[in-house]
Order: sequence, then C-alpha cells, then structure tokens
Amino acid sequence: MGLDSSPSKSLPTMRLLNPYPNIYAYYDGRTGTRYHSDSPNWLDDGAFKLGVATYSIINGTSALLYDAGITPEHATYMLNHVKSLGATKIMLVYSHVHNDHIAGASAIYPARDRIKSVEVIAHEKTYEDLADPLSVEEIAEEDPTFQIVLPTKTYNEEMTLQIGDEEVKLMNFDIHTPDATVAWLPKRRLLLAGDVLEDTVTYLSPENAKVEQLRTHITELRRLASLSGLEKVLPAHGCPKKIGGGGYDVKSFVDATIKYIEAMGEDVDEPEIWTLRLEEVVKSEVESGGLGYWDAYEAVHQENVDSVKKARKQTG
Ligand SMILES: [Zn+2]
Repeated sequence: MGLDSSPSKSLPTMRLLNPYPNIYAYYDGRTGTRYHSDSPNWLDDGAFKLGVATYSIINGTSALLYDAGITPEHATYMLNHVKSLGATKIMLVYSHVHNDHIAGASAIYPARDRIKSVEVIAHEKTYEDLADPLSVEEIAEEDPTFQIVLPTKTYNEEMTLQIGDEEVKLMNFDIHTPDATVAWLPKRRLLLAGDVLEDTVTYLSPENAKVEQLRTHITELRRLASLSGLEKVLPAHGCPKKIGGGGYDVKSFVDATIKYIEAMGEDVDEPEIWTLRLEEVVKSEVESGGLGYWDAYEAVHQENVDSVKKARKQTG
C-alpha cells in the first residue's frame, strides 16, 4: 500500500500506514483540504488540518486500538481492518479526553452490542470528565456532535495489558491534559504518545500555561524520556511520512519540545519567541530532521503565545 493511496472509498484521504510489523496507523488530514464543513468546527480546525493518526497493535487474535478515530467512519474502518487480520478480542484505549481521540468510539462499541466484546480503557480522569453532565452538554452542541462511550475500565498511575504475547504498559503523564495515557511497548522500545508530543509543536492550553504548569510539563517530558530503552515515538499528530517510516527519535523530539516550552516561558518581559513565526522557531530541528514543519501549526503557536501572555497577566 503506497503512502498516498487510500484503502477506503468512503475515506478518500485516509492513509493506512504500517510502521512496524503488526502495528498500523490510520492517518487522515494534513492534505490542505477540509473534511466536514467550511464553517469553523473542531473536526476540521482541531484535527483534520493538523493530521491525526490512530493506531492498532495486533497479536494473534488480540488487538488494541489506541484512540477511537476522528469519526465513526474512521473507527469502522479500523475495526474492520483488525478483524480482517484475525482479531476477535479487541481493546480500545483513549489517549485523553479530547474530541479527536474519542469521537469514533460509538462505531467500535455500539449500543446494541454492549456485551463487553470490546473493553474501553482510559485513565480515571478521562472517565470522570466524560461522565460529567457538563461534558455531555458540551459535546451535544459540538459540530459535528458524537456519542460519548464511557470507559469500561480505568486505571490511575499504570496498567499493563497483554495483547497476545505483546506487553503494553499504559502510563499517565500530566502533559497536554492531566488525563493523558501513553502506551509503552518495552520490547519494541516504542511509545504511542497521543498528544503528549506533537509535531510541529506542542499545544499549551489557556488552563495549562502558567509558569508552574510549564515547569510540570518539562518535568513530565523528562520522566517520559527516561523510560528505560525508549527509542521511537509515534504521536497522534505528526508527519505521515515519518510515522509510516517508524516514528520520531525520542531524544530530539523531547529536546525540541522542552526547548520550545522554556523559550515560551523565558523570564523576561517579552520573550523573543513570542514575536517569531513557528517556522523560524523550529528551523534547526527541521533541518536536522528531528521535526517536520507543517504550516497549520502556526495557528497553534499563536494560540500558545496568547495563552502564556494571558496566564502571566493573571498571576501579575
Ligand atoms: Zn489531538
């Protein structure tokens, strides 16, 4: 299957990638076209523009889906794909609570079929967020809206799963959102990172941009980089060629992200990075191959600058 050919007629821009034996990425977006509508909406502006990958790990008759796909159509494709490869025991893990990681779940775990044929696993905070009546109201008003599927099993710090004879460790990191779950595959020295690491740049939400939180972000990235033996990272938002080719080198990815956060929080009145385009900020990392520049991330960088500015004003 070539990089640019779609395996599905109903999903014309989806790419099925196979970065490692028995590990697949279902990648959509980053094409320059919109998917859902011309009006501003989370699916086009928060997900499709940036590009999103969801992953599967298949071993014998077991499969793990890491994230639920950005729409039920994507989720149906993923589910049929792992079934076509022999999977009958399927687990779904949410990397975190954001729409672009959970919106497809109703197709994987349909209401008529709640007989635990699929286990839905997430951090306990993900569960709490999704079960909150406020989230239910918010999601009902989203464009596009979708059906929430609550996790059937939660964990707190760590949880080990067996996918056939593949050991997968779920771990919680307070990066991007407090409920972030990464999937660590020690034998392969590989990490499925969700939104804990993003190429071209990490997202600093307005709630997450205070000085102490930037410090926590960096401490947590160092903890992640110290996982013994970790070499490669597959992020949810990254360059499809890099993902298809096996992912990102952990050291350069983490170093680039820490350098960015440090520059954003530099202890001067107006850090220089606030006035720069992202393209200039990441120039050397792109040249060395550590990151792949994608211009839709200029808007994310601008939002990050606004968030850090606002957080500083609030703390005085
Ligand atoms: Zn995301």
